[in-house]
Amino acid sequence: SNPTEYQVVVIGAGPSGAVAAAHLKQQGISVLIIERETFPRFSIGESLLPHCMSFLDEAGMLDAITSAGFQRKDGAAFCRDGQYVTFDFEQKSATGPASTFQVKRAVFDDILARQAEKMGVEIRYQHSVKGIKIEADYTLLEVEDDTGQLQTIQCQFVLDASGFGRVLPRLLDLETPSDFPVRKAVFTHYQDGIAAEDPFLHNGTCFDRNKILIVPHEQHHDIWLWIIPFSDATTSIGVVAEQKYYDALADLSLNETLDHFIDTDPALCRLLKNRQRCQNAREITGYSANVKSLFGERFALLGNAGEFLDPVFSSGVTIALKSANLCAPLVVRSLKGESVDWEQEYAIPLRQGINAFRTYVEAWYQGGLQTVFFHPSPDPKIKAMICSILAGYAWDCSNPFALKSDRYLGNLIELCTPEQPLPASASCSP
Ligand code: FAD
Repeated sequence: SNPTEYQVVVIGAGPSGAVAAAHLKQQGISVLIIERETFPRFSIGESLLPHCMSFLDEAGMLDAITSAGFQRKDGAAFCRDGQYVTFDFEQKSATGPASTFQVKRAVFDDILARQAEKMGVEIRYQHSVKGIKIEADYTLLEVEDDTGQLQTIQCQFVLDASGFGRVLPRLLDLETPSDFPVRKAVFTHYQDGIAAEDPFLHNGTCFDRNKILIVPHEQHHDIWLWIIPFSDATTSIGVVAEQKYYDALADLSLNETLDHFIDTDPALCRLLKNRQRCQNAREITGYSANVKSLFGERFALLGNAGEFLDPVFSSGVTIALKSANLCAPLVVRSLKGESVDWEQEYAIPLRQGINAFRTYVEAWYQGGLQTVFFHPSPDPKIKAMICSILAGYAWDCSNPFALKSDRYLGNLIELCTPEQPLPASASCSP
């Protein structure tokens, strides 16, 4: 039988897929999303950044999200050895939204997918892309339906928004290793039992539900925990570490491993003393990934299907939505027969922000960024520019801490790092 035809097929109905499809549909393009799961489904990535709100607005989906009752997020807090610092997004140097939400992704992703459907996007759930054949004038996708039958779908352009499924990178041999070491996250949701007026630090600091809290381990600064409160008295808690640290705890179950890391930190142990686990802990390993190219003959990669760095700065969904936003107009132009320079117009601009985030992730694990964050007297102007990055504005060319992140952050770390005394042999005195 003749294959069904669409102008564009999007693989995956997560945030990047739903938003890209919505943009295309609004431009009159026929678009189909193939989604492996049924929604709502669990996904990790619960803390958004304010810059996301601009992308949701442009896709016509902001009202649906703001009226969903999610926990407001207005900043990020870091707590180490009893020291507590906050970044208040109102203080960011960039223009644009200064608040966002902490979301259960099952609900958030479902809303975005339904909004796309309302705009006329067709989504086939429980369908999975298994193969691709790129012909001279069109592309054929092999799709397995919910009964296990294979179907062929013909289209002009494919957007891979399959996240960690990484469908096209695998099928087209585009995968390349990430620069980051393999790390593992262990996480779950708890009834948190946090009393708002109950200080969890000795200086009287109370927990702020409007911020996510990041807690580096007291001894090993490359281990850290996230605390992402939701609006229903539950909280997502996770720990991120290299495997070697888990090896030392091999006798513990996943639930016990997570409890161990929470209880090792005195402040967290106090804050979360009344917690009740909602479901068993899950793990995800080796999530950092990269690709040789973000585009090719009649396809492009969105969000996590392209590059994924690391969860520490909650940049995943923001990068996913930025990619959708940047890519959709280029697909429209290419379908009209206009020439598109995918390297100059897509890969380079997208990677500019990704690379800024990369600088911060690297500096976080090397420890230098933590020295900056916990500096006792930060310069307010510099803090505003770093706050901008933490709010997701990593593509802001007017911010040197975004545009030339390597140089500016490197210098700042040097300035903030206490000088080591010179060895006696290097002394200048006669
Ligand atoms: P996804 O949201 O992953 O959606 C992909 C969709 O494709 C899925 O629905 C999947 O079912 C579907 N799919 C997969 N394979 C196929 C197939 N063969 N056929 C059809 N459909 C398919 N990001 C943040 O912004 N904030 C955070 O706090 C954060 N925390 C994180 C913590 C951890 C431990 C990790 C690993 C990541 C975290 N992230 C976070 C990143 C975030 O999870 C992702 O960046 C984000 O979900 C990417 O969105 P996406 O649209 O690219 O893909």
